[in-house]
This record gives sequence, C-alpha cells and structure tokens, in this order.
Amino acid sequence: MRLSVAAKEKAAKSSKKKLPVRERQKPTLATERRCSIASTVGILADPWAFLVLREAFFGAKRFEEYRSGLEITRATLSDRLRRLVHEGILRESSYSDTSSRVEYKLTKAGIDLYPIFMSLMQFGDRWFETSKSGPLQLIHETCNCVSKPIVTCSCCEQRFSARDVTYIDGPGTGRIAAETPWPSRRTADDFMRGRPSSVSRAIEVVGDRWSFLILREAFYGSSRFDQLQAELGIATNILTDRLARLIDRGVFRKKLYQDAPERFEYILTPMGADLHGSLMMIMAWGDRWRSQGRPPMLLRHEACGQIFTPVVVCNRCGKAIDAFSMKYRMRYNPDQYGGRKSSRAVPGRV
Ligand SMILES: [Zn+2]
Ligand SMILES: [Zn+2]
Repeated sequence: MRLSVAAKEKAAKSSKKKLPVRERQKPTLATERRCSIASTVGILADPWAFLVLREAFFGAKRFEEYRSGLEITRATLSDRLRRLVHEGILRESSYSDTSSRVEYKLTKAGIDLYPIFMSLMQFGDRWFETSKSGPLQLIHETCNCVSKPIVTCSCCEQRFSARDVTYIDGPGTGRIAAETPWPSRRTADDFMRGRPSSVSRAIEVVGDRWSFLILREAFYGSSRFDQLQAELGIATNILTDRLARLIDRGVFRKKLYQDAPERFEYILTPMGADLHGSLMMIMAWGDRWRSQGRPPMLLRHEACGQIFTPVVVCNRCGKAIDAFSMKYRMRYNPDQYGGRKSSRAVPGRV
C-alpha cells in the first residue's frame, strides 16, 4: 500500500507522539536467540521427520521400507524425504540402472544424529521402562558388551549434570529472525507410531519445538512465566499450553513464589533435569553442522573447569559410540512393524 506524503507525515507524527523511542525501534519481525538447539529440534520435533530418521537408523533406504510400519501417506513421506534431503540429512542415490528409482541414505550429518538418538533412548529406558531392558538391546561391537550409553564431558570423560555446566556466549551469539516451524505438525501422539521405541517416548514427553525451547530456557536459568516469555518471544496462550503439558508429563513442577496475585515458578523435576544430556547433544550437533564453525554458546564443565563438547560413550568401555559400532537386539517382533530391515544402525559404509 502506498501512502500519500501527507498521510506519511501524519503517521510519522502520531507514532512519534504515542510511542517511546525504544518501542519505535523495535524490529517488526519476531526474533529468537541464535541457538544450535533450536536449529536442530526444528527437524527432530516434527513427528514424521523424526520417524523417517528413526527408520533410517533401522536400515530403511527405499521408499516402501520407510513407509512400512508407519502408516504414513505417500505424499507426506515424499515431502519429509525431500525436506531431509534439503537439510543435508538424507541423500538420494539411484539403485537401478534401468529406472529412475532412488534410495534415501543417511549423510554424514545424518549419521551424526545417532548419538542424540542413543541419549534419548537411554532417557526413555530410564524413566518409562519397568522391565530390565527397553524394546531394544544395544551391543557395542568395540567391546562386545550390552551397552547403555551415557553422555560425558569430552575433557574429563565424566558424566555431567545440568547443575555443573555453565553457559558462555560463543562466537556466534546473537539474535536472528524467528524460524518458521515445519508445516502440518501433528500431535505428539504421532511420535508413538510404528515399532515400540524409547526414543519416541522420550521425544513425545517433550512434544514440540516450543517445548524443547522452554526446556532449554529452564536449563539457562529461567523459571518464571514472564522470563520464559521474554526470552522466547512466545505467545501467552502457547506458553501456558506448553507449560501445562510439560507439567502433566512430569518434566516441570509448579512452585508458588508469590501469594497476591498468585505467581508460580516452573521447576524442573529430576526427570526433566535428566533431559539435559540429550539437549546438550542436540546443541553439539547443531554446532557441528549448522553454525558454520561459530557456535552460539560454549559449555564449561565446572567439575573440570574446561570448555567441553558432550560425547555419548559406552558405559562399559568408555569409548565414544557411533552408528557403525552398534548392533541391535529387538525385544519385539519386527514383523508386526513392517519387517526386519537390519540389526545394525548403519549396515556397511554409506
Ligand atoms: Zn569435564
Ligand atoms: Zn563398549
């Protein structure tokens, strides 16, 4: 719309009169903290993209292999495969000389998501499994042991918790235009489609991108509604909704800090605090693959005093785990979920 000069002057005058200087300088676009967690959970918090990736770690490559067991429409699957290729997580490779058919294989960045899946799986097993082992038993081939991977500090090789990590601004710190979430996000229940999976249960507990970001802010020290809202630039109704859901799932508890009017703090439960390792792994992936070598935030482990990178290691031999050195033993019948694809995360080199 074009305004006449007179109308422009009038608009400028009235805005000068009404708005304080800071208000007028406020950018019109929503911004958010530049953050390696945000850029990664944009992918993982979409149920379909997540399920496609999970199947890739069970050896799915062809369209029908991804489709089997997920009850996903062809159109949705095509869309997610295309997006994951665009994100550099899957790549297309043709498997027949006589047709144009392609396989979708994990790229290096895709394979590097594996430790995140492992840490989420262990979280799921710790909090939701009543039996001794979850749906999947992991065999670490390096030591030939049944493994329950843990997240450790790259410097002292010890486990760390939310309490002994300090966050320091990194070279990429700042704010950016708010990211548009992937379209047609369905409900969190969709994470539970297909085979029994502790990774799905872990990610379902958090639910969506906003909830991951609320969790992140809680680890950075925000506990009050207005603090969370100011940091995230999130609409009041969305924040209210997500906090209620996270309380319902046992990630946060409410604590009264003021009587009149009633005000609450949102405190992480022990289960919520236990998501720290996975969240730090998600950050580390974003730093490696999305930050152009300029991580927005650095982590200092107070126990050893060093700036560190979180690493998922085998709890038996202490060696870092990757998708090439893990084998699965399924504790369910894979035929019910589209059949066995592989007992390895990445069968052979890709
Ligand atoms: Zn350390
Ligand atoms: Zn091992």
